[in-house]
Amino acid sequence: MLTQRPRGMHDILPDEAPLWNEIEETARRMCARYGFVEVRTPVLEHTELFWRGVGETTDIVEKEMYTFTDRGGRSVTLRPEGTAGTVRAYVEHKFYGGSQPVKWFYIGPMFRYERPQAGRQRQFHQFGVEVFGADDPAADAEVIALGLDFLEAIGLTGLGLELNSVGCPTCRPVYRERLQAYYRPLQDRLCGDCRERLERNPLRLLDCKREICRSLAANAPQIGEVLCPACRVHDEGVRRHLDEADIAYRINPRLVRGLDYYTRTAFEVVEERIGAQGTVLGGGRYNGLVEEVGGPPTPGIGFAAGLERLILALRHRREDARAGADVDVFGIALGDEASVELTGWMRRLRRSGCRAVRSFEPKSLKAQLKAADRSGARWALILGEDERRRGVVILRNLAGGDQRELPGTELESWWTEETEHGGGQ
Ligand code: ATP
Ligand code: MG
Repeated sequence: MLTQRPRGMHDILPDEAPLWNEIEETARRMCARYGFVEVRTPVLEHTELFWRGVGETTDIVEKEMYTFTDRGGRSVTLRPEGTAGTVRAYVEHKFYGGSQPVKWFYIGPMFRYERPQAGRQRQFHQFGVEVFGADDPAADAEVIALGLDFLEAIGLTGLGLELNSVGCPTCRPVYRERLQAYYRPLQDRLCGDCRERLERNPLRLLDCKREICRSLAANAPQIGEVLCPACRVHDEGVRRHLDEADIAYRINPRLVRGLDYYTRTAFEVVEERIGAQGTVLGGGRYNGLVEEVGGPPTPGIGFAAGLERLILALRHRREDARAGADVDVFGIALGDEASVELTGWMRRLRRSGCRAVRSFEPKSLKAQLKAADRSGARWALILGEDERRRGVVILRNLAGGDQRELPGTELESWWTEETEHGGGQ
């Protein structure tokens, strides 16, 4: 136990950290382009916030939260998602009183007690954005565009955008009834969870991942048939904005999102190659949420992207996801004097921007070349006693195997040229 991390929780080790940084930097850069600013809220909130803000009939609240009583006897919960805390902060600091819209983003860890599998963890990370105080379909399109631009910028391609409307408090009750009428005669064939959901939150039956429930969902009534005129106008508006921005989408009438506070627009971005856990980004409009959490009626829309799933998807694409650990030159010294001199060469190389690492304890040439290979370096810089006396170094191209001798004084200009000719980065 002592040397084992909790199930579903992961270490991000140094070989992965650069990729994480790259993704987070890309998120920040894209947000700046779209005029979103960062907010950081606590990882712990009062449990009631999630009952209200996520919804008591959701999987998250029913069975996935890390909830405990603190030493003061209050029930607190590790945040399972980012929107509720963000809304709490918006209301608590009275941002609704300032100029609207308020456009925020966040990046951070989330906690859900789920069954761990590839792309599904108990601690995971989300990048999410929220727009408060805008009901315009242009805001929906802007949020979707930001999500797609971010995914493209980190190098994901071949993504599918799925779109639906989940209606509003005017038309959704009608849809709920239609769904219940469709499913009641089929009750015996549903999975246990869905049988329970049928009376409390029938929309979620469309979202069930079990094979039998999915096949029944295929013929279920679609919400498009019952949308109220206002929702229909909004939905058409979103599509016009997306069309104008050259954003392709597929209408998925079974796309409902697991959360209760969503109204109208619901969307997901799916990556086909990572299978069952293929949704890398999901979001939608939540016009009822701010009021639910105690603020004035305020429209809102946002998305959250799961960073682990993005990394998984990226890994399928670039087998060299470890590229973050790239090394340009691996320094090898043979003998004590050479080792001292190598310290000088390494520092000069690094100061010219070269990523250089070296062996430390005295080892054979063979052992050091092996270490150089493992490091992924493109060049080994070899300095033996003989070379040291002659004032030269050996540069071996680890990929090609050829090597040459270079006067030590030319080492830095060699590196500069190497970078300029695209050999470096
Ligand atoms: P799913 O249907 O896959 O459980 P969800 O509807 O619960 O997803 P959201 O609450 O909308 O997901 O969260 C947004 C994104 O966060 C998901 O699309 C996914 O990329 C990521 N995500 C959600 N739960 C997890 C988890 N347990 N581990 C890793 N990533 C997750
Ligand atoms: Mg889930």
